[in-house]
Amino acid sequence: MFTMYGKDKVVNKMKKLSLVIPCYNEEKNIKLFFNSCENELKNIDIEYIFINDGSSDNTLKEIKDLIEKNSKKNIVCLNFSRNFGKESAMLAGMNYSTGDYVAIIDADLQQNPKYVKEMLQFIEMNPHYDCVTCYQEKRKESGIMKCLKKMFYKLINKLSDISFRENASDFRLMNRKMVNSVIDMKEYYRFSKGIFSYVGFNVYYMPYKVEERKNGKTSWSYWKLFKYAIGGIISFSLIPLRLVTLVGFLSFVISIIYFIVIVIQKFTVGIDISGYPTIVCLILFYGSLQTIFLGIIAEYIGKALMEIKKRPKYIIRDKIDKNNCTDI
Ligand code: UDP
Ligand code: MG
Repeated sequence: MFTMYGKDKVVNKMKKLSLVIPCYNEEKNIKLFFNSCENELKNIDIEYIFINDGSSDNTLKEIKDLIEKNSKKNIVCLNFSRNFGKESAMLAGMNYSTGDYVAIIDADLQQNPKYVKEMLQFIEMNPHYDCVTCYQEKRKESGIMKCLKKMFYKLINKLSDISFRENASDFRLMNRKMVNSVIDMKEYYRFSKGIFSYVGFNVYYMPYKVEERKNGKTSWSYWKLFKYAIGGIISFSLIPLRLVTLVGFLSFVISIIYFIVIVIQKFTVGIDISGYPTIVCLILFYGSLQTIFLGIIAEYIGKALMEIKKRPKYIIRDKIDKNNCTDI
């Protein structure tokens, strides 16, 4: 609740909370998730926005069921025409949201809705904050994964001008001002960790304990995470491109020095120019270096091409609410 002071009278108005819930193959979690929210978030005006991100199981049916059986609740489902990924699902949810606050939360119950209440209470009591972001104090992952993620944060913080908070998740609550700024970031390739950092605002970091997935499995493989990390670096840093120029320049200087040394050796002590193995090694070394650099440049060009095409970041096949739930 918050208080608005009119001319003479005091008006109490309940603030609305939009819950953005990306769902991909979460058929067994939808009802559990909704019940958990209803238990933990009592007396809050909630707008549930489920985004069915091209699930191949019965997720859509489960959401429709939920809408039908809870016609008094404000529940909507944005049904994508195919799988566009969690980033697009979050954007669609934020675009659709009408709440004063927007919380992004996974459907698999790894993020307990009780934290949404804590975030809401915190931001209501500390209105100079625009966002509360949950982060994991202790990650429940394998040693390798922890180490790789640590390395990623170190690297991206070195390469980028904006700072990335280690272990900060998408699980967060934002006020309308911040949500509007996030929506205003129009890039096609959306690396939300970077976008949230880029827009700035006053962010409070709240520790939380991630729980085990209730049902189903994560959609992140090592390969997907690697691609995501590279994409993030490319989106938020031009330093790899400058590195290409720098290494090229350095190797040019070294080759000139080496050339001068060889010429001096030849004409003073009469040592022969190094033979076949040296040449082969040098060709292989520079050949592979050039290929790597071409790869880096190609990554940037590829991403730029996708941006130029201005394709939609998602396509909504149906918007389902209590009024049209049975027609679809
Ligand atoms: N998700 C999505 N689209 C995808 C992959 C995942 O909407 O292409 C949703 C998923 O249903 C879940 C959230 O994003 O609600 C987080 O996904 P997941 O649990 O696989 O990630 P993790 O928790 O392992 O980081
Ligand atoms: Mg999960």
